[in-house]
Amino acid sequence: MPSKIRSIEARLRQEIIDQGDISLSHFWREAMTASDKGYYTNTAPIGEDGDFITAPEVSQIFGELIGLWLADNWVKIGSPPTFDLVELGPGRGQLMVDALRATKSVPGFLSAAQLLLVEVSKPFRAMQADRLRKYSPSWQKDWQKITDGDAPLFLIANEFLDALPICQFELSSKGWEERRIIWNGHAFEFNSTLTAKPSETKNFPSAPIGAVIEVSEERDALVDAVSKRIAKTGGAALFIDYGFSTNKLGDSLQAVLKGKPVNPLSNPGLADLTSHVNFSSAAAKVEAAGAVPYGPVDQGVFLLRLGAEVRANQLGATATAEKNVLMRQSLKRLVHPLEMGGLFKALAILPPGSHKPAGFD
Ligand code: SAH
Repeated sequence: MPSKIRSIEARLRQEIIDQGDISLSHFWREAMTASDKGYYTNTAPIGEDGDFITAPEVSQIFGELIGLWLADNWVKIGSPPTFDLVELGPGRGQLMVDALRATKSVPGFLSAAQLLLVEVSKPFRAMQADRLRKYSPSWQKDWQKITDGDAPLFLIANEFLDALPICQFELSSKGWEERRIIWNGHAFEFNSTLTAKPSETKNFPSAPIGAVIEVSEERDALVDAVSKRIAKTGGAALFIDYGFSTNKLGDSLQAVLKGKPVNPLSNPGLADLTSHVNFSSAAAKVEAAGAVPYGPVDQGVFLLRLGAEVRANQLGATATAEKNVLMRQSLKRLVHPLEMGGLFKALAILPPGSHKPAGFD
């Protein structure tokens, strides 16, 4: 079989035959973003019919408040005449549509913005082109390309970090083992291999046998690169994702296929893979890179501090009673501590010596 028409599964199987085993992060990267058949490469899985729904799809208030947050930070550094406005993984583009509409009333913001969208999915890029055309965006597939400009950087990433590949390590009586992937003849399965102690173990000096630690080199590299760029050029970045605020052990790997949880190894390229983001470790990486982290704070707290209620009242004043009920339900989903409001966290990155960003006081 010529290699270009091999499925992801067959390709991964061949690599295991050649090498003995493969890492979870390699399996993940191939399954999600391989240039021919990755899950994200060729699909647009967000929305009522897709695998998942995200905050910007729940309520326009989400994107509007984030747009005003970005503009507020831009004004507070003196409204520089050009800046890079970057979104990582814009999906259907809803967040940016709402954000940019909301900033129309901020003089000079839209004309100073150079909009750059980082997106690996062809169908999503087409949707973004359609919905954001009037802002003349450009695109990149790799986030690695966006971090070396000279202009101030204003960046937003909602549910992007959780999509980046991880590795898992487990403590056994023999020591730390990496959970690598083998082919058992009819399925992929985890196989533990003794390894050097991962550096993240320093946060868990008394981890018990059976403890699992997750490490994402790509996540760390992204946070490092964005922090260094912001320390150098100024600006502000906002990462929102589900995850935890204090260092936590545990296996958070999950796969979703058509809205249902499935075995993460059983459908490479077909199921969505995610894991929880360790925001405490991300904030430490920001500091190590010479920038200043704010948060993490719960998404609900962040949105309410930015005026989510006030905006809902404004929208409600001209809406029908029925629309009002729906809008309040959506807002509750975004801010309630037992819903997305508590599950999701926000982390901001600003340069040293800057103002404190709204929502993080
Ligand atoms: N921010 C959007 C979409 C979140 S889903 C929202 O809130 O609705 C994750 C997004 O990141 C998708 O657009 C996906 O195609 C994109 N993506 C995932 N991994 C990527 C990678 N490695 N490089 C670039 N884009 C990626």
